[in-house]
Amino acid sequence: MPELSKRVGTFTDSVIRRMTRISDSTPGSINLSQGFPDFDPPKEILEALKKNAEGGPQHQYSITFGAENIRKCVAEKYSPLFGREIDPDKEVVITCGSTEAMMASMMTVCNPGDNVIVFSPFYENYGADAILSGANPIYVDLVPPAFSFDKEKLEEAFKNNVKAIIVCNPSNPCGKVFTKKELEFIVGLAVKYDAFVITDEVYEHIIFAPHEHTYCASLPSAWGRVITCNSLSKTFSITGWRIGFAIAPENVAEGIKKVHDFLTVGAAAPLQEAVCAGFKLGEPYYKSLQALYTKKKAVFLEGLDKAGLKHNDPEGAYFVLVDISPFLEKPMFKGWSDLDFCSWMIKTVGVAAVPGSSFFKDGTNNYIRLHFARSEESLREATNRLMGLNKYL
Ligand code: GLN
Repeated sequence: MPELSKRVGTFTDSVIRRMTRISDSTPGSINLSQGFPDFDPPKEILEALKKNAEGGPQHQYSITFGAENIRKCVAEKYSPLFGREIDPDKEVVITCGSTEAMMASMMTVCNPGDNVIVFSPFYENYGADAILSGANPIYVDLVPPAFSFDKEKLEEAFKNNVKAIIVCNPSNPCGKVFTKKELEFIVGLAVKYDAFVITDEVYEHIIFAPHEHTYCASLPSAWGRVITCNSLSKTFSITGWRIGFAIAPENVAEGIKKVHDFLTVGAAAPLQEAVCAGFKLGEPYYKSLQALYTKKKAVFLEGLDKAGLKHNDPEGAYFVLVDISPFLEKPMFKGWSDLDFCSWMIKTVGVAAVPGSSFFKDGTNNYIRLHFARSEESLREATNRLMGLNKYL
């Protein structure tokens, strides 16, 4: 048999999504690994889905870079947030999730060998995005407990002929919300060293007070070099729909449109139409989502505290990093990886997590990531189960 490409041998399948499969094959396990809600999208969206299930042109290809209705919704929502008129025809591309928006953006701006700055810990996909687009990641640490970055180190990284920086805000997995000042600093460096800023803002509406979301593209001098990637998965609890988008200056969007066209032709057309009902809900809906997750976070963190687990306090997104060092120091766990720990934890207490090493540049092995996009009942049950870990300490 001929050999597979060298490229495909350089990365593994997603550990996040692998953990879901392991959880699914473990009867009774609560899946807090891959982050997705166990509750329904807004009823307005479900009603629109029913309507769009009837006969009509929406069952055929949409315009490759997105149906007109949804591109208009995106432009209407983000124009005031970015402080400029976004052109729905020229500056918006509808993609199959933010996953495709990120990949298409990287393929649009990077030549093989180009350097791209990635903050570590980072969302697992960016590793594969870099490999598939030929880019070379340069990692800059987000340092716990606040997951802040060292400004000098960031500037040092920019001096390596950097083509782009990826900013996941709010950050998966560490829950950091970049402040306006931090983003201004990042954009300032991008201007100084002539680099693109590719943002992943899928958790824009899952933010915990007093933290606030700043859209990178809204900053003075940012437009022209910021590519905003986003998705409707988390905002409308429709992770299975795979609807995302990129907003970028016209010449960049042109490139993203071409890559997207040949990768996927388009996102599912009837779903693009149905999700427009979500945009119509506007600000009151986004506020209610924020309140919902604020409550879930409180329930979950209280449960983790009761279980005696050390964890961070996320400023945004729906993930918590639990520090498993106290376990790894015990003789029973000697030489264990975080993956070994997660596999054991599913079998022992019936809760699935993602090994933290999937998110860190180096051999960081002492975190596991849990998400709290679950019903409060399920979160209580999960943390009760996690109490069972105590006897191994
Ligand atoms: N962002 C979610 C996570 O990190 C899931 C994303 C995905 O699997 N596409 O778990």
